[in-house]
Amino acid sequence: MKGIAVVTGAAGFIGSHLCERLVADGWKVVGIDAFTDYYSPARKRRHIESLLGSPRFSLAEEDLCHCDLEPLLEGAGCVFHLAAQAGVRRSWGSEFAHYIEANILATQRLLEALKKRDIPLIYSSSSSVYGETRALPMREDHPTAPVSPYGATKLSGEHLCELYRVNFGVRYVALRYFTVYGPRQRPDMAFSRFITAALEGGSIEVYGDGTQTRDFTYVSDAVEANLLASAYDGKQRIFNIGGGSRSSILDVLQIIREQTGGEPRISFLERARGDVHDTWADTGRAAGELGFSPTVGLAEGLRREIDWYREATGTGERR
Ligand code: NAD
Repeated sequence: MKGIAVVTGAAGFIGSHLCERLVADGWKVVGIDAFTDYYSPARKRRHIESLLGSPRFSLAEEDLCHCDLEPLLEGAGCVFHLAAQAGVRRSWGSEFAHYIEANILATQRLLEALKKRDIPLIYSSSSSVYGETRALPMREDHPTAPVSPYGATKLSGEHLCELYRVNFGVRYVALRYFTVYGPRQRPDMAFSRFITAALEGGSIEVYGDGTQTRDFTYVSDAVEANLLASAYDGKQRIFNIGGGSRSSILDVLQIIREQTGGEPRISFLERARGDVHDTWADTGRAAGELGFSPTVGLAEGLRREIDWYREATGTGERR
């Protein structure tokens, strides 16, 4: 056995994939999740259904902002911190209180608990810390200037990790994911909405004119980055985790049309506040230091997400 891994946000999109991989690799996993209602808690329970049958997985249904973390960290060899309130567009207005709690307060409580123990923390950060930039691809040493409240809270999490490292010796690695997709993707995310509309005959709302670009990262590549980070003992602490190429929303829609045969109606809306026009990860540091190399390209990854959606919902014929 490899030891005990604590995964926060274990029932979420990326967290559930990470738990499955850790269990398969021989770790004993303590999954923590509060089953927040940002999207269906029942859906999150389905994410971890198969894990609950494993003797190497245990679930703590707890809120990181309130629970006693001490017993949950007992014997842990690594903490993978994925719990968060995700979503850029919802982070304005009164919803921001949830972002402060889940992204800042929860991270600070975890760091407080870790300062007495020698357990490394792998912090799930985001490309949203960069904000709008003309200097592409984005590099870890570029300035950070988030343009959404969500991005500001993810950057605060990074700053807290650094504060606890400098003052209390907490070891951490922050992974800045660039738009992660694949089976179980959150229902508020673009691919998820596009695939649903393509297979169920609905309409698609695109924010902006569709020329905006993203570096899309397949979920197993994001999971692999977490494993590589947990074994890393070098000097760097922040890594971009991207899929290796960048595509526009219009390109993505075209692939989805081809792969589903669906012709959803598309309405172009005003660009959403907090959305940047382009993201593109320079993954040179992750490649050199962690040995990270994304393996699933966009067309293949989309095919897998579409297949998963069909299976999960019994929707549409496979082409
Ligand atoms: P998700 O919403 O599917 O998963 C997050 C999980 O955290 C949820 O299951 C939720 O119930 C749980 N949670 C929230 N607050 C909690 C709390 N206070 N205590 C315990 N559990 C709590 O999101 P995801 O897309 O899987 O994202 C995982 C992480 O990756 C997040 O930190 C997110 O900011 C980061 N990230 C994701 C993407 C992406 O494209 N999906 C991109 C960049 C960064």
